[in-house]
Amino acid sequence: MLRPGPIGKGNPTPALKSPRRRIFDRELFPELVTATNDGIIATAAIVEGLTASAVSGNIIVLAGLATLAAGGLSLGGVIYAEYAAERDDLRSTLDQERRLLASLPDAELEELKGLYVARGLTAELAAQVAAQLTARDALSAHVEAEYGISTDDLSVHPLPVAVASGMAFAVGALVPLLAVWFAPTAWRVPVIFAAAIAGLCVTSVVRARVGRSSVLRTFGRAVTVGVSAMLIGLVLGRLVG
Ligand SMILES: [Zn+2]
Repeated sequence: MLRPGPIGKGNPTPALKSPRRRIFDRELFPELVTATNDGIIATAAIVEGLTASAVSGNIIVLAGLATLAAGGLSLGGVIYAEYAAERDDLRSTLDQERRLLASLPDAELEELKGLYVARGLTAELAAQVAAQLTARDALSAHVEAEYGISTDDLSVHPLPVAVASGMAFAVGALVPLLAVWFAPTAWRVPVIFAAAIAGLCVTSVVRARVGRSSVLRTFGRAVTVGVSAMLIGLVLGRLVG
């Protein structure tokens, strides 16, 4: 779920030695929009399938609510585990670097100097930069240059991120669920379909705006997945129901 941080922009000293992905990408918002997308698609497919199998409206709403709850909780759980693991990684990297700085300060200064030389600074300038950054905040200077991570990244807690993701899924799930609730029985299939497509349209526009990507392409992808899932739901509903 996490993408590597932008090299150059907003990340003044990108990973030089070990190009590992940036641990806490601040661009969380696109991921929340994706969670909303998932909520729309998963729930729409389930309620379309049940509508096609002609079970009662109450059962469809119940199944939709179950999808909302189960999907939101499991997504939240996955995100929590992922962010907690990244946080542990970050902590151990910081601990290791802190130990190295305490035990081998000269070697660490040389290492930092070497990283700036590798980036194109002259030996003299690299020595000055390394010395000044080390004097200001040695740990930050080292982990930023060596791993492309920031000590600030520890301030991102897994729990709020997990809760936000689960809620984003639930918001998406509400779209087809409200369509089931309000549509007349005979119109359920097309109304759920239209509501899901409209929802995906909104999330795609937001997602594309935030990610500065093509709205059409983002929408095309979301709709292809959404329509396929709903069609599979409908066919299964007909066959089983
Ligand atoms: Zn170091």
